[in-house]
Amino acid sequence: MKKILILGATGSIGKSGLDIIRQHPDKFCLAGMSAHKNADALLQAAGEFNCKNLCLTSESTQHIDSVSFYGSDGLKELIKSTDCDIILNGIAGAAGLVPSITALENHKDLALANKETIVMAGLLIRKLAAKNNARILPVDSEHSAVFSLTQKYGKDALDSIVLTASGGPFRNTPKEKLETVTLADTLKHPTWNMGQKITIDSATLANKGLEVIEACRLFDVPAEKVHVVVHPQSLVHSLIRTKDGVLYAQISEPDMKHPILQAFFWPEFQPNKLKLFDLADNVEMTFQKPRTDDFRMLPLAFEAAKKSGQYTIAYNAANEVAVAAFIQTQIKFLDIPNLTEEVLARDWTGEPSDFDEVFEADKKARSAAKEVLSKWGAL
Ligand code: NDP
Ligand code: MG
Repeated sequence: MKKILILGATGSIGKSGLDIIRQHPDKFCLAGMSAHKNADALLQAAGEFNCKNLCLTSESTQHIDSVSFYGSDGLKELIKSTDCDIILNGIAGAAGLVPSITALENHKDLALANKETIVMAGLLIRKLAAKNNARILPVDSEHSAVFSLTQKYGKDALDSIVLTASGGPFRNTPKEKLETVTLADTLKHPTWNMGQKITIDSATLANKGLEVIEACRLFDVPAEKVHVVVHPQSLVHSLIRTKDGVLYAQISEPDMKHPILQAFFWPEFQPNKLKLFDLADNVEMTFQKPRTDDFRMLPLAFEAAKKSGQYTIAYNAANEVAVAAFIQTQIKFLDIPNLTEEVLARDWTGEPSDFDEVFEADKKARSAAKEVLSKWGAL
């Protein structure tokens, strides 16, 4: 029986993690959970799973008898004190980095959905995992696919990575219409049902941009060896090309429970209760080049990955500030790449040598982004 601690248990990833525990009571049990503000959903799941180790991370939350830990320090305590085999990090955004560090420092295997952890501090995180003999098991579906494929064929066989992208809701929207798309239009994702931030990132292709950086850092490949192809059906989750030129793909239904299950069961492959994908079911699979001129977040991410230093931190921070401003209707959809580009035009050279330098760069990039917003009169 594997004991699972779920961080961000009330979110889209967290709820899928709970579903898996619900489906496999003989294999997994819930050791603990965190949520940010959503106390009702946290307590409901705690009742169902008879789970006592709970944390609410928002500093402004009212205290409740059955919740022992509060705030960011409380989250660290939850991670340190919970007896568990795997931690699923389904926290949204840069707030996921500290808990990832704490998990690894405490020698816990990390099922990692929080891509920001790797985008902001990939090299340091991998070193920390190695030092503490803890594993990083990617949950982002593309990286889970690449992880499985490289495990199978061996890292020495790997030539390059092909990440698939759904293309989001605006895959066929002409450039001039992108000027006026609304938040509601942006939240209509064609294939995946996810949290608000990542859904907006899927529409701008920033999500794929973050994933390009994530792939470079997780699998130790240069940006030139990562390619993106639009695949609207989201059935092929990613591919690797081996040195002999052959492509290998991972295919399943678009359901995040697949990569979460793979991480929970790793290194075993076990039967599960998810819907099997059937190729004979009249499926169509198509692939096309991404529109990099119209969706600038993708080429900006490739540039940031190539420049390295603090550029990937600045990319993530600028995008988070831009998305928050877009949600508040302070800026338009196409201002998200405009803002990110302006922030990245500043000097972000110098590789962070420790996590403090990562947090410093993140802070600096956020204030640079806010400066640009106020220069535009958007704040
Ligand atoms: P959601 O917005 O659905 O859920 C976020 C979770 O994190 C909630 O439990 C929320 O609590 C909690 N949370 C929010 N802010 C904070 C904070 N400041 N500190 C601690 N906890 C916080 O996000 P998703 O599940 O969609 O995404 C989570 C992560 O997984 C992201 O990094 C995303 O990129 C990645 N990912 C998601 C995929 C998906 O299919 N959703 C696919 C691949 C990767 P509360 O509910 O109380 O606000
Ligand atoms: Mg993904």
